[in-house]
Amino acid sequence: MHDRATDLPLLDVAASGTAVKPSSGGSCKFLCDEMLWGLGRWLRAAGYDTATAARGLADGELLRRAGAEGRVLLTLDRALEARAGAQAVAITLGSEGLDAGARELRARLGIDWLRAPFTRCLVDNAALVPASNDARRDLPPKARTLGGAINGCPDCGRLYWPGSHVRRMLARLEAWQESVPPRRVRTVGVGAMGRRAGDIS
Ligand SMILES: [Zn+2]
Repeated sequence: MHDRATDLPLLDVAASGTAVKPSSGGSCKFLCDEMLWGLGRWLRAAGYDTATAARGLADGELLRRAGAEGRVLLTLDRALEARAGAQAVAITLGSEGLDAGARELRARLGIDWLRAPFTRCLVDNAALVPASNDARRDLPPKARTLGGAINGCPDCGRLYWPGSHVRRMLARLEAWQESVPPRRVRTVGVGAMGRRAGDIS
């Protein structure tokens, strides 16, 4: 059953030294529209509770879901942000590429890319739990020799362990974290529903 296993770990990495206020990106939940699906996956990799919208979901449904679940809606559609009103907090990113978008989130929202890496399933956002002995039998032999924590997703059964793919992902998270010096990280009150986050880019 190796096809259920993913070369990803649960790394017990504490939050970085960057001060992130409780009301900022440090505690936010997110909903990414379909254009930001990839970025949403990386927010999960950093430990953020992040949902991604189904393809073709109507704008009104997106906003309703964001509001109902207390998630900050991330979008590339400025019209969507304008339509949000008091219903939801929506933030339009000005950067389309993954690296540029990640750096923008760091600079504008104080996203901590090293918040709690690899504590959520990248696919379905579920919080990972230590893998059972039964589940560990699905691991490729090489993964058993690596040491470190092995965790599993309670929803889809994927296994996560500290392999080379994870190390590469972690290096990318670290690069985004360092892309903006802590003193220049701006935090806005995106955690407070009903309050619009200002564009401080
Ligand atoms: Zn899963």
